[in-house]
Amino acid sequence: MRWFTTLTAVAVWALSVPATCLPRGDADLKDLNSKLSSKARIYLPGSSGFADVSARWSELEMPASNISVVPAIEKDVVETIKFASKYNIPFLAVNGVHGSITTLGRMDWGVSIYVGEMSGVKIAPDGKTATILGGTMSKVVTDTLWAAGKQTVTGTCECVSYLGPALGGGHGWLQGHHGLVADQFVSMNVVLADGTLKTIGPSSDLWWAMKGAGHNFGVVTSVTVKIYPLVHQNWAIETLMFTGDKVKEVYQAANDNLLKGGTQDVNVINWSYWFNLPQVDPTGPVIAFYIIQEGVGAVDSKYTKPFRDIGPFSVEPAAGTYRDLAGWVGINLDAPPCAKAGLANPRFPIYLEKYNATAQQQIYNLFAKATNASSPFAGSLFMFEGYSMQGVKAVDAASAAYAYRGDNLLIAPLLQYQPAGPVRDAQAKQLGNEIRELLRKGSGRTDLHSYVNYAYGDETAKSWYGSEAWRQTKLKALKTKYDPKGRFSFYAPVA
Ligand SMILES: Cc1cc2nc3c(=O)[nH]c(=O)nc-3n(C[C@H](O)[C@H](O)[C@H](O)COP(=O)(O)OP(=O)(O)OC[C@H]3O[C@@H](n4cnc5c(N)ncnc54)[C@H](O)[C@@H]3O)c2cc1C
Repeated sequence: MRWFTTLTAVAVWALSVPATCLPRGDADLKDLNSKLSSKARIYLPGSSGFADVSARWSELEMPASNISVVPAIEKDVVETIKFASKYNIPFLAVNGVHGSITTLGRMDWGVSIYVGEMSGVKIAPDGKTATILGGTMSKVVTDTLWAAGKQTVTGTCECVSYLGPALGGGHGWLQGHHGLVADQFVSMNVVLADGTLKTIGPSSDLWWAMKGAGHNFGVVTSVTVKIYPLVHQNWAIETLMFTGDKVKEVYQAANDNLLKGGTQDVNVINWSYWFNLPQVDPTGPVIAFYIIQEGVGAVDSKYTKPFRDIGPFSVEPAAGTYRDLAGWVGINLDAPPCAKAGLANPRFPIYLEKYNATAQQQIYNLFAKATNASSPFAGSLFMFEGYSMQGVKAVDAASAAYAYRGDNLLIAPLLQYQPAGPVRDAQAKQLGNEIRELLRKGSGRTDLHSYVNYAYGDETAKSWYGSEAWRQTKLKALKTKYDPKGRFSFYAPVA
């Protein structure tokens, strides 16, 4: 940590005195400062700017840095990484700050590179692609394209960046039509571990890795992606609320009427949440089951009737546009998941092909007991995401580092709690893994399929990137080639 004192001192000097008076430290921040563009900024701990770009969605195992660089242009990223590499200083790109994997906590000093000021979307004259800057939020992408009568696949949450989800594959409402967010990539500009800026496309060996394991290989300053004409503006949702005694029936109905062995209709999405609503049921969480349909003013009764027949305690249909979807499921800008509320938010994800109604009952019982009103985890949320999959399965599974095109459901308990030290963290970890183990056993699988972007952090690289030997070998070989010193190793490291 001696370096920290030196660098901070140098930094303060660098920003406040004439260059000729600057002391030389091990790492001369003046060196970096002189190479950055006039609009780039450097923030130090104690400043409000530093606090603003360091606050995160989850306070469990947060990355720590001594300096935040806010690049204004691509070259600022290049210079910052060259600087960090030259002095062997750890660095990490920071964007929508919703990354919550505990491996991020391994960064205990260094430079954070907050890319959020590099934001913008430019549609190509032929209307077939758009170039998105590295720090653009998903909502900015959606809104900009919408205004031009276009769409592409983005993550669903409005406050998450475009590239954070994309580099791990990226799930979104339109994936049934077009594939994952990463499947839309056409080319990208990426700054590698040594500060080299590369423009890459399908002919680069790195291309494969950027689509699923991209956080391990570089900072993406811009990406050109496929965009599509806006075919349907209108979407509808039906929210059916159930008490926990209906859990088996609800998920059996989901298998039989929606998932249908992995052939869920392309214009239909099913999501559900479990959360405590004591005024309705003080004994266990309620089930909010969402059936979402594209291109209609009301969800077709062939999808909703089997669920209405189970006996929900409330049914709420709504109609609107694509841009209402995030609000309907509580992940719009004003919703709690977008707030930095000082909470720990670990998730324990597992991909599955279908629901096992018996396992759903088991995990309901466990979740209900562990998140009751007197528990520190009472604010938790269990998430079940059933997107349509045609577009994802249509892409050659070997074409990307993303490994789980065969699965149809993304399931994750989000154990939300007030940080209270290692004992509580350990309780959360044990509970989350216990729940996930029940799901894995219920699937009959021996291996764990885990979405890297939801991962807790104690999974293995095989769980994040696929257990096939060829995937692991390829990923490690690319890592050795492009990042031999393991500079990009804080987010689900490949090795
Ligand atoms: C409320 C909520 C909703 C979500 N919804 C979705 C969803 O709909 N679909 C989905 O797939 N995932 C979703 N996620 C998961 C999401 O993909 C991850 O949380 C992701 O890490 C968020 O990226 P970020 O930029 O917001 O976070 P950050 O913590 O800023 O970044 C996460 C990681 O990505 C790296 N990174 C970010 N930008 C770049 C870049 N330009 N170049 C290189 N590396 C970069 C960072 O270095 C970091 O390692 C959601 C998460 C939450 C909390």
